[in-house]
Amino acid sequence: MKSIVVLGSNFAGFTSAIQLAKKLKRKREEYKVVVISPTHDFLYVPSLIWVPFGRREVKDIKFDLRSIFQKNNIEFIQKAADRVDPDKNIVYLNDDQEITYDYLVIATGVSMNFDVIDGLRPEDNKIHNIVIPKLAMKTREAFEKLVDDPGPVIVGATQGASCMGAAYEYLFNMDKELRRHKVRDKVKLYWITPEPYLGNFGIDGMPGGEGMLKMFMKLYNIEYIIDASIDRIDEDKIHLKDGTVLPYKMAMLMPPFEGAQVMKDSPKLVDEKGFVETKASYQHVKYDNVFAAGLAVKVTPNFKIEKTPFGVPKTGYPSDVTGKIVAKNIVRLIDGKKKLIEKEWGKIPAICIMDAGHKEVYLLANHLFKPRQFAILLPNIFNDFGKVLLEKYFMWKNRHGYAWLP
Ligand SMILES: Cc1cc2nc3c(=O)[nH]c(=O)nc-3n(C[C@H](O)[C@H](O)[C@H](O)COP(=O)(O)OP(=O)(O)OC[C@H]3O[C@@H](n4cnc5c(N)ncnc54)[C@H](O)[C@@H]3O)c2cc1C
Repeated sequence: MKSIVVLGSNFAGFTSAIQLAKKLKRKREEYKVVVISPTHDFLYVPSLIWVPFGRREVKDIKFDLRSIFQKNNIEFIQKAADRVDPDKNIVYLNDDQEITYDYLVIATGVSMNFDVIDGLRPEDNKIHNIVIPKLAMKTREAFEKLVDDPGPVIVGATQGASCMGAAYEYLFNMDKELRRHKVRDKVKLYWITPEPYLGNFGIDGMPGGEGMLKMFMKLYNIEYIIDASIDRIDEDKIHLKDGTVLPYKMAMLMPPFEGAQVMKDSPKLVDEKGFVETKASYQHVKYDNVFAAGLAVKVTPNFKIEKTPFGVPKTGYPSDVTGKIVAKNIVRLIDGKKKLIEKEWGKIPAICIMDAGHKEVYLLANHLFKPRQFAILLPNIFNDFGKVLLEKYFMWKNRHGYAWLP
């Protein structure tokens, strides 16, 4: 029996595994799909922005994947992979177990680089973070304290960060929730970002994006600093490299992302940051039986970053798309086809909804990167119903294993 091993079970890994199992149903006697992941839960990561404000509990945005894997004849190993040796086709697990593969899909997401600035680590107890449930819950505790004893708040992203969109969402939700708790007038709210202009989002902007965000900042009375590079973090102050000093009682900063530790420990497959180097087919540049999808993929921007460094955001839609491409391409190789499907990351459509507190903005473009033939920002000024609907749709789709849906 040959095996296709998928590392990771969230957006990209889950989609890949389900699609592989469905497409290879006819070859069930020859091929098995094995998923390796430290958790049996699917987590709808985008809704973590609401956890600090109590709008979502972590249990509301996750579900158990095991029955779906079982239904689709997917073997599930609930363990973390430790490293991969692509010359031997072996994944080593954290208990030293060895799993051999014929094809490998890497969908292990990212790790956070807290070393970019002193004082950024969660254990320093200065700066909060919403990237993982545990830290989002800690951010909730800090928010509750802030409501009781208000003071200045800093929200933003560090130099080298790529997930500015989620930080914008958290910022606007912070404003909304402070108003709801009737303490907004006691809080000076700052936004700091490495972007060269508001609404660059790491994709070189969208038409009208800068103007719209400037309008939101004015409307919500938020002071902002673009091209911001942080020098050091004190107990109650953030020092920027240009000498600006910002006081804070509570702060949330999005750190830079790097590849997951398992990939950093598999140096033959990754760049210096631990991202997997692939072709436009998401096949590894050197190892033909290794593929990557989602956050794990190395993506280089096609535009110049001249001032403060920042990265390209890898959102849910391209993670899902690359998961599907990888599944199709592995099936093609199994079927003896030579030509693989190719879709450069920057040419995947941009489909995203940014929650803006009481409002939301739909980001739609035919390509993530320029040149684009179509790109539009559509505000919904009445509520954030679209964002909620997307969450419900995604949870429903994956809970039922309908991974082929968009
Ligand atoms: C706060 C926040 C808000 C966001 N909001 C949005 C949004 O509004 N819209 C949007 O489109 N995108 C959003 N994103 C991005 C979106 O969450 C990602 O694009 C998506 O999660 C990427 O999926 P992935 O499967 O590549 O990685 P992940 O979802 O991170 O999954 C990684 C998987 O790898 C597993 N794994 C980790 N280490 C190992 C190991 N050693 N061995 C085996 N498995 C391992 C994990 O358990 C997990 O199953 C947001 C991200 C964040 C952090």
